[in-house]
Amino acid sequence: MAIWNLGSINLDLVYSLSHFPAAGETLAAQAFHRYLGGKGANMSVAGARAGATVHHIGAVGTDGAEMVGKLTDTGVKTDHIAKVPVATGHAVISVVAGTDGDAGENQIILFPGANQTLTKAQVAQALDGAKAGDIFVTQNETNMQVEACRMAAEKGLRVCYAAAPFDADAVAAVLPYLDFLILNEVEAAQLAEATGQQPEALGVRDVIITLGSKGARHIDCTTGQTHDVKAFRVEPVDTTGAGDTFTGYVLAGLDQGQSMAEAMETANRAGAVMVTRHGTSDVIPTLAEVNAADL
Ligand code: ADP
Repeated sequence: MAIWNLGSINLDLVYSLSHFPAAGETLAAQAFHRYLGGKGANMSVAGARAGATVHHIGAVGTDGAEMVGKLTDTGVKTDHIAKVPVATGHAVISVVAGTDGDAGENQIILFPGANQTLTKAQVAQALDGAKAGDIFVTQNETNMQVEACRMAAEKGLRVCYAAAPFDADAVAAVLPYLDFLILNEVEAAQLAEATGQQPEALGVRDVIITLGSKGARHIDCTTGQTHDVKAFRVEPVDTTGAGDTFTGYVLAGLDQGQSMAEAMETANRAGAVMVTRHGTSDVIPTLAEVNAADL
């Protein structure tokens, strides 16, 4: 079996600063790092590190070989990543490392670039290689979400939407095609407010709500039964990417034939390990690390 992930690929450019520059100010950064980022890429890395075969469907610019290389290095299949003549999606992230009032705050400039250039033909060609029963997942950081979910559903794939960054209209547009909907607590509340209904009443088969330090909840919407996993008690140092890690692990478990409860158990462990690490895709734990973690 396999996971097909239509998702964003970003270059994260991270600058450590003493303070945020004022208008007109030129400020030398104290440190600089470049990372693979984007929710899509993070989920692909998590799925691959969890042991699944993950095909990433996406696009980078002519400057994107580095990001594709990083995905390939983690075991993600990159044959369906297009190279287009625009900039690779990127985020310019300023982090104040000083000890003044702004310490720890960040500012992010996001340029979606190539992530918004996917074509129907590209998605169709990629999904030609998919089999009924495979898993399809996407998030809200690329174009082609609706068309891709429809094509995947028509081919008999199990279709999952991770509703982040949250947009009620984007969720409504893919809803008819979904088997699984994954949201965090804030997104679930936003969806309930936008629709006037609880997420489990929207016609999706399975809803998973991640609850941060409280764990996660699965709702079988056919029976109304809920299953909760309690979070492991850890000292979080950086919660970035916890949700993407959880999602990649849940889908990898399901793809490998595990029950939802089994898949959530491992995903909950993976999320707990992830929040004890600084960084994002580069530090998403492997299954061996997740199993060996002393939680
Ligand atoms: P998101 O990053 O999308 O906001 P969450 O914060 O809900 O997602 O985190 C996803 C999962 O990561 C949680 O369901 C849980 O398994 C794990 N997790 C997140 N924060 C913690 C924490 N403080 N302690 C232990 N596990 C955590």
